[in-house]
Amino acid sequence: MIFGRKKDIDICTQTINSDTKNYCPFSPDIVMTTSFKFDSYEDFCKASVDEKNHYVYTRGSNPTTVKLENILAQLDHGEKCKVFASGMGAISATLFSLLKQGDHLLMINTIYGEAASFAQYLHNFGIESDRIDVANTDEIFQHVKENTKIIYFESPSSEKFEMLDLQKIANFAKKHNILTVIDATWASPLFTKPIDFGIDLVIHSLSKYVGGHSDVLGGSVVGSNKLVNQIFEYGHQFLDSTNSPFNSWLAIRGLRTLPLRMQHANQAIKVVLDALKDDDRIKRIYHPYCSENEQKELAQKYLKGYGSLFAFDLNTDDLEKVKIFINSLKTISIGVSWGGYESLALAVYKGNNLSALKKRKLEPTHIRIFVGLEDPNVILDDIKHALDTAFK
Ligand SMILES: *Cc1c(COP(=O)(O)O)cnc(C)c1O
Repeated sequence: MIFGRKKDIDICTQTINSDTKNYCPFSPDIVMTTSFKFDSYEDFCKASVDEKNHYVYTRGSNPTTVKLENILAQLDHGEKCKVFASGMGAISATLFSLLKQGDHLLMINTIYGEAASFAQYLHNFGIESDRIDVANTDEIFQHVKENTKIIYFESPSSEKFEMLDLQKIANFAKKHNILTVIDATWASPLFTKPIDFGIDLVIHSLSKYVGGHSDVLGGSVVGSNKLVNQIFEYGHQFLDSTNSPFNSWLAIRGLRTLPLRMQHANQAIKVVLDALKDDDRIKRIYHPYCSENEQKELAQKYLKGYGSLFAFDLNTDDLEKVKIFINSLKTISIGVSWGGYESLALAVYKGNNLSALKKRKLEPTHIRIFVGLEDPNVILDDIKHALDTAFK
């Protein structure tokens, strides 16, 4: 027996008819089940041949996850969404599903590390790829080959936060029968709508802004029914990176405050960057808000607001200052990932990786900072204090 407010409820004899649910929660049900029950032979036969549209087994579809998928498809302005256990799950399933032996994958500017490594790994299966650095969008097109099947990019890119012209890429790709895939995690589904400009597929790591609390991994891909069904059938079902219904629920919970958190991000990053942009201890800031000319125009065209992940190079050759700066931070924590409550900092220099950084065209004094939900003035004071200590 458990004790309710008015009367005791015997949980063993209480029956709830699931067909006529007599309650309506604000927060959705978490449907923790591996498999689903059928009323008849006929019902099962019908469902099992079309797992994309029926609940048969949670490795295919689950009601809590489908609820999340429906919201994300709407936010990204696409027909359909498939959710995965992580951003990398979404990326690898997408590339695995759409590429075959002999195809060429073109990656532009800095790509999330594991995604770039996955493209390298695909060489083992006869899928070619190039990752190119371009200063402007037009340069991309001379790198396209006869067998280019996918153009894959981030905008803003990882590490340097460079923007690309989505519409130009989409128009070119459509003419040449090439698919376009963007990882739009930086801006969240609220601040960029690549599908409106003709991009075929939009990927997000839900582990960042969407989850928003540093407690859930997830990934999504949104696009046409045809493409997302193909990714469902192959990448999702074969590689399998199924999101747990509980994690889908956490992501839905995150979405309920996403507009408020993104509004904060947009305001907080401006407070921080306005104060840092003329600081002579900083050589260069990487963020669309601080960009100029064509980059600024692209930011205005393609971003509805600014994300709060940025980077800068310290104005020094003394790499000891990188260490002192990071160790002097008090509010900002040291750690990977971003998009949760807490502000985070990371230096790319690890003491022994100078040649790798040179290859990545990164200054060894490059530092990435995520501005979280704390008062931005506290974050700013923390950064300034760490600069004071490093440059004393
Ligand atoms: C974090 C991240 C990913 C990977 O997402 P996971 O959920 O950590 O697998 C991919 N792309 C970008 C831009 C990211 O920031």
